[in-house]
Amino acid sequence: MTTICIGCGCTDDRACSGGCSLMRTDPVRRVGVCSNCFRDAVRWDAGDRRISENAHARRIARCRSCLAPIVWFRTISGFIIPINAGSVDSQDTQHDAKRHIAHFATCPNRDMHRRAR
Ligand SMILES: [Zn+2]
Ligand SMILES: [Zn+2]
Ligand SMILES: [Zn+2]
Repeated sequence: MTTICIGCGCTDDRACSGGCSLMRTDPVRRVGVCSNCFRDAVRWDAGDRRISENAHARRIARCRSCLAPIVWFRTISGFIIPINAGSVDSQDTQHDAKRHIAHFATCPNRDMHRRAR
């Protein structure tokens, strides 16, 4: 399972450039603080587990075909799928099928996705 750093948005799949390790983790909310985010470790220790705007911005990627903003999430079945960034709250750490809109459903170039498979 993926843990996201609340300071910079790195994950255990995608560490900071130069490398980092998680100094704090919350296995329930799947958030943590990595070794490059000392300042966030201070607010973590004070009980603040909110994902910073920076961290959320960093996990936003672009659809390769239509360039729409997307966030990659791992579903409970283990697939990694692109979700429309507009349907993702900055505090979301897990895929939520009720709220998150899969980008496949709205991508204007979705036929390209299909052909790529
Ligand atoms: Zn970090
Ligand atoms: Zn990091
Ligand atoms: Zn797209």
